[in-house]
Amino acid sequence: MAAMATKTTDDGSPRGALTRAADRAPSSWGLGDGQAIPWEYAPAPESRDVVTLKERYGLFINGKDVPASDGQVFTSVNPATEEPLTEVARATAADMDKAVRAARTAFRSRWGSLPGRERAKYLFRIARILQERSREFAVLESMDSGKPIKESRDVDVPLAAAHFWYYAGWADKLEYAFPGRVAKPLGVAGQIIPWNFPLLMLAWKIAPALAAGNTVVLKPASTTPLSALLFAEVCRQADLPPGVVNIVPGPGEIGMSLVTHPDVDKVAFTGSTDIGKKIYKGVAGTDKGLTLELGGKAANIVFDDAPLDQAVEGIVNGIYFNQGEVCCAGSRLLAQESIVEPLIEKLKDRLATIRVGDPLDKNTDVGAINSKAQLEKITELVAAGRAEGAEMYQPACDLPDRGYFFRPTLFTNVAQSHRIAREEIFGPVLSVLTFRTPEEAVEKANNTPYGLSAGVWTDKGSRILHMVKRMKAGVVWANTFNRFDPTSPFGGYKESGFGREGGMHGLHAYVRLEDR
Ligand code: NDP
Repeated sequence: MAAMATKTTDDGSPRGALTRAADRAPSSWGLGDGQAIPWEYAPAPESRDVVTLKERYGLFINGKDVPASDGQVFTSVNPATEEPLTEVARATAADMDKAVRAARTAFRSRWGSLPGRERAKYLFRIARILQERSREFAVLESMDSGKPIKESRDVDVPLAAAHFWYYAGWADKLEYAFPGRVAKPLGVAGQIIPWNFPLLMLAWKIAPALAAGNTVVLKPASTTPLSALLFAEVCRQADLPPGVVNIVPGPGEIGMSLVTHPDVDKVAFTGSTDIGKKIYKGVAGTDKGLTLELGGKAANIVFDDAPLDQAVEGIVNGIYFNQGEVCCAGSRLLAQESIVEPLIEKLKDRLATIRVGDPLDKNTDVGAINSKAQLEKITELVAAGRAEGAEMYQPACDLPDRGYFFRPTLFTNVAQSHRIAREEIFGPVLSVLTFRTPEEAVEKANNTPYGLSAGVWTDKGSRILHMVKRMKAGVVWANTFNRFDPTSPFGGYKESGFGREGGMHGLHAYVRLEDR
């Protein structure tokens, strides 16, 4: 674990080992009466040795590792240590053009007309290699993005492989997915992914595209290009024909040159609503297909008949998973008034046990924020929450000396008008609001420009159905939160975007349906 130092809270009191009354030793233990029990975990760091970083990575175009046309590079930084990891070629518009041409040639010459059962073999091979190299991917992803190893190891990488397994199964069965219709590939897909789930978002996009017979040009986020570049190696290892997958890291403008490229047939984007709107404008007036998976401000609604301990776990998973850098994070807790006090008390107790620190330590629950810019955004919104009159709680926990870390944060006394109740913070910050009736809960849950996800906690099945019907959210979890499966479609309403990824719906976005 990185060197740890005790820091102070925002109100100036010291932060150190946990000293709740419940954690004090009885005198019979011989530690001294009332002595705090040192419930400390020993460091359990995952080894970095499984990852071999090159000094410099090129662009992956037409099956080859090539430098940018102007020789420019950028540095990928480890957000947990602020140390540079490696250099990556920074694509130009000319490089993007080259990648799209390579994808077009691969589509025309081979991939677009390859029988589904042959495409499936490549996807199965990729899935298997991802599983074989899962530890390497997990460690690299945690180093580049700041997410805890237990999440990259147990969620991101297994789910990424699962998407390839799942869509491999569809590649030769498209006629059953769309009965009575003939499903034809669209051609070249231009895909832009964010930094919060770099490998998983790549899999969500590349697997259905290839299964349906399209070729791909993918731009990863600038702060997390490395797992996509390792995936390029997997494509080579799987003998994927050159040009079927092209990985082109570079700045946001390069993403726009992919979106507006005349030879791209379909655009898929996951990221902020602001950029999503620009992309929408970029494809306007063309016949390109478009799916947008954008921001969210999900309500996690807890009724008074919910099992509170279970709900607390769901709330914690909903907002502190992946440092809260999750588009569908349950960032607004709506608690029924009659249970708000015990619920907050239980939440505070649970927050005190969350371990923030080295992403490569297997005991870490909350790792590093992905970038300095994102940390600044979180800090600014938290300051706005305090200035607007909400009450902040942060548990006692040490933060590493270096790196972009933020304590799990809970706001009570939040009003609907507060920025922390309206804006996507994309950090480990929960805003608690209350309600009295189911109607009020629906009203408040829907009172947002977003509509990506929501959660409902109640003992009554009928109430779950009542709420689900009324909430404008693409996904509603009942008595759980943040569960994903490749067979299940995911996507939003309103400013959270349109189109679905996952399941058969995810295939639909990559095919043209013709009559038999
Ligand atoms: P962006 O939307 O800017 O980044 C997402 C992807 O879009 C990245 O690959 C980025 O490239 C690319 N991109 C940036 N500008 C353009 C452009 N003009 N045209 C095409 N592609 C572009 O998100 P940020 O990283 O700026 O994060 C800002 C906020 O967005 C976060 O605080 C969070 O609220 C939200 N967000 C939501 C996500 C979600 O899953 N819904 C994911 C990420 C962020 P590059 O990295 O090179 O800039």
